[in-house]
Amino acid sequence: MAARADEAGGGSAGCVGGAVVADAPPRVLLVASEIFPLAKTGGLGDVCGALPKALRQLGVDVRLLMPGYPCALDRSADLRIAGAVDADAGESSARLLAGRLPDSDIPLWLLDCPRLYQRPGTPYQDPSGSDWPDNARRYAALCRAAVALARGDTAARWRPDLVHCHDWHTGLVPFLLRRAGVARPATVFTVHNAAFQGNFPWATAELLDLPDDAAGLEFYGQLSFLKAGIVYADKVTTVSPTYARELRSREFGCGLEGVFASRGADFVGILNGIDTEVWNPATDAFLARRYSPDDPAGKGACKNALQAQSGLRQDPAAPLAMFASRLTTQKMADVLAERMPTLLRRHATLQFALLGSGEHTLERRFIEISREFPGRAAIEIGYAESTAHRLHAGADLLLHGSRFEPCGLTQMYAMRYGTIPIVRCVGGLADSVADVETDASTATGFVFAEASGRAFEHAIERSLEVYATRPEVWREVRARGLAADFGWSRSAAAYLDLYRQLVPAPSAAARLAAWHQRIGDLARAGRARALVARTGT
Ligand code: ADP
Repeated sequence: MAARADEAGGGSAGCVGGAVVADAPPRVLLVASEIFPLAKTGGLGDVCGALPKALRQLGVDVRLLMPGYPCALDRSADLRIAGAVDADAGESSARLLAGRLPDSDIPLWLLDCPRLYQRPGTPYQDPSGSDWPDNARRYAALCRAAVALARGDTAARWRPDLVHCHDWHTGLVPFLLRRAGVARPATVFTVHNAAFQGNFPWATAELLDLPDDAAGLEFYGQLSFLKAGIVYADKVTTVSPTYARELRSREFGCGLEGVFASRGADFVGILNGIDTEVWNPATDAFLARRYSPDDPAGKGACKNALQAQSGLRQDPAAPLAMFASRLTTQKMADVLAERMPTLLRRHATLQFALLGSGEHTLERRFIEISREFPGRAAIEIGYAESTAHRLHAGADLLLHGSRFEPCGLTQMYAMRYGTIPIVRCVGGLADSVADVETDASTATGFVFAEASGRAFEHAIERSLEVYATRPEVWREVRARGLAADFGWSRSAAAYLDLYRQLVPAPSAAARLAAWHQRIGDLARAGRARALVARTGT
């Protein structure tokens, strides 16, 4: 597949992955620090794993680049050496490994640079939870590798029309491509969370050999990868329309509100989708029993199994609320830790299951809660994909308060698994969940406005009241979520529209001319071969 596609990459006549397509969609290099299932610490990994598949469905020739972390090297399919790349400014040797994203035909490059990426811990932190001190260098190397691929400075024969960069780790790509000063591909930069900015002491710019006259890199005296992406990309996106509005405000802009606002119409929000193959209760191998909107009975079996596995009381009628996320103040995990004991005391049958890791004081507090409420609070500190799936399937309610939420995926997973979300009305949560009180005929959950314990608790109370006294409303809301379409097709089409604004489709005349050229080339090559065969020269 890779070889065939490499050949396609050289032409311009709309031959993508071997299939002729009508309007020659653009060739896109997607660059990210995490791509599921190779590496994931949160929504970024999920999105960068699912979006390429959806773009591929639309015929886009999308290829991926990410760091060669140990987990990514282990999980990639069919890796082969694709040549050296000057990524670490001559400091250490690096090479590109070419392969495929597992369970897909999407070509992938891993930046193999053991000195930067062969480490334990998460992609960003050592096992004790501290950021790697050379993160600027590690992700500058990723950016340089992307630029080398984009400019044709590697052995890869394929060159993109457009580079789609994700989050601060890739923020230098638009800047470096502009500085390259030659014909360059277009750039799109997507902000998944403006709170993570990749800010480093200004002296780092010199260590990374970056030109120091670039105002777009400077943020309050520091070098900011995120700001560089926002300033220099041709188009900037974020992961929901509401978050795009919020980022222009002081409350949510994390100091970059002016920079976001300055991009005007070139900064838009496109709501994330979810990978409906990975998150599908009808096929999910992690579940005790599969179920679907037409046959939801299996959800009860999943609840039984979850209660049994996590030491909760076996009680099919008990309302079971869950949380599966990073244990941070962003996710209002502090508020939950404060309010949950009161709620558990007030509602004798209420059960609570939590999976997460993050701030150590919060981890300890939740463990205390599980000791205080045996059989009613089950706490798993850590990161476990399988438990996350079981929680979404087995619970009745998802607790998803957020102080800010760019998009949020867990609320969509929950709805698809028939678990009703309680969310704060911010960012993508506001764009994906409708409250029961606002309009019962379209409701998919419970929504609260203020980032306060009182408001969160009130929303939980409302949900428990509906659960206990209005089962028909509960069933309707749940059925609506189960049947809703959270797939990527709509959002991928929006990204393709955006790419098209930067890389217009060739006109019919240009396509025809390209085909004539190609046919002429083939004919000439055929004649030359025939001549060689005849004359033997
Ligand atoms: P964010 O990206 O802010 O962390 P999202 O809701 O966008 O939040 O995405 C979170 C993703 O990470 C989901 O797929 C969620 O299931 C997963 N996740 C978060 N914490 C854990 C954990 N401890 N174990 C397993 N999966 C987790």
